Amino acid sequence: MQGSVELKSMPELLSLLVDDEGEVSVELGFALDEQKLRTVTGQAKARVRQQCQRCLEPVEVELEAEFSLAVVLNEEQAKNLPRYYDPLLVEEDVVLATLVEEELILTLPAVAYHEDCSVQLSYGEDEVQQSEQDEKPNPFSVLASLKQKR
Ligand SMILES: [Zn+2]
Repeated sequence: MQGSVELKSMPELLSLLVDDEGEVSVELGFALDEQKLRTVTGQAKARVRQQCQRCLEPVEVELEAEFSLAVVLNEEQAKNLPRYYDPLLVEEDVVLATLVEEELILTLPAVAYHEDCSVQLSYGEDEVQQSEQDEKPNPFSVLASLKQKR
């Protein structure tokens, strides 16, 4: 099965992104292997936008997930799976978009930033901001002066 899924159908992934622009292309294969395990293997690719942790502007991130899953009905079956499969616990109907969404979330970088982000180079600006903060009156020094007046 090959196709594309809209990011809009992946609310959990979306909550980690700056907008819903982008599409996920998916390739899935379903099979019954030699051990009579029902397997779902495939890959998903997406180009999404996260927030750059330096300049706070959107930054494009490419996600690529590959997975090899075997359907299990309970924890016991999951434990007995060959190591090359990850368990796909099926309690109700499997929503394929959700399956793909979970795999993509696992590939999200913990921290995203532009490779050539301009903020990275301007350490001088940070120092200016810091000294401005230092000039603000400390609220505790106001309290201290109140105490002295009593
Ligand atoms: Zn940036």
